[in-house]
Amino acid sequence: MRVIKSIAQMQRSALSLKRSGKTIGLVPTMGALHEGHLSLIRKARAENKIVIVSIFVNPIQFCPNEDLQRYPRPFKQDRSLCEQENVDYIFFPSPRQMYPYGFKSYVEVRELGDGLCGASRPGHFRGVTTVVSKLFNITQPDRAYFGQKDAQQAAIIERMAKDLDFPCAVRILPVVRESDGLAMSSRNRYLSASERGQAAVLSAALRQARRLVSRGVRRPEAITSGIASAIKSARAARIEYIKIVDAGTLKPVERIRGKALIALAVRFGKTRLIDNIIVQGRAG
Ligand code: AMP
Repeated sequence: MRVIKSIAQMQRSALSLKRSGKTIGLVPTMGALHEGHLSLIRKARAENKIVIVSIFVNPIQFCPNEDLQRYPRPFKQDRSLCEQENVDYIFFPSPRQMYPYGFKSYVEVRELGDGLCGASRPGHFRGVTTVVSKLFNITQPDRAYFGQKDAQQAAIIERMAKDLDFPCAVRILPVVRESDGLAMSSRNRYLSASERGQAAVLSAALRQARRLVSRGVRRPEAITSGIASAIKSARAARIEYIKIVDAGTLKPVERIRGKALIALAVRFGKTRLIDNIIVQGRAG
């Protein structure tokens, strides 16, 4: 396994691998790897000749009051996890490599980033789409792997890859969870023991919502109010949003028909957690 920090070197290696006919799978991450990331890496390993994992805490996707400075960066641990998974390259650039003095170009997907997490994180998705475009150009992937954990991000990246004709298939993989249902996240380590115990309420509330939909409940408010009252039973929880949107357009739905995304963001103390499920109402 090679660790490459330079953009020019990574791009040269990727182009020469492509020329020799090798397929490339890219797994973009911010590091602090856990089983959620590893599920993406394993899928990439199974589907491609070469696997590149990028580890980059992308400053331009953090808002001014967010956790950029304290975001965990356990590189040695990440490197040995990647080694265990037979990753071929870690691309590990510095912020200065990615955004040198004079950097002025951004990629923006309109509308899809306005609601849900975008409402409280202005500029976040522009930061994500910009860095993912750069990573696509640098690593030349045939396939890139993302998690359904970040459902809005996944929808935005799928749209971007289509709209901008990136010659790369975007693969979205299911949410990997702890045994009590909490969606795995690098940010879970910020939770105190008590907050960690209470955080399982999020996935429990989403499972309850799924049961309501399967029993025929179709009105979003009936479902979101049930989720809200379940979450409020956790003392530390502060709800930011609970929304039901069309899974493709991310627009709020008036009734659940076809594929809908139930998404939420809730704070426990200083830690902001997100989770979601896809439910299926009757088609049409
Ligand atoms: P991050 O390092 O948080 O930027 O995440 C890198 C990639 O891993 C993103 O595509 C995430 O959606 C994905 N990911 C993070 N947590 C999970 C999880 N629990 N299950 C599946 N994918 C995940």
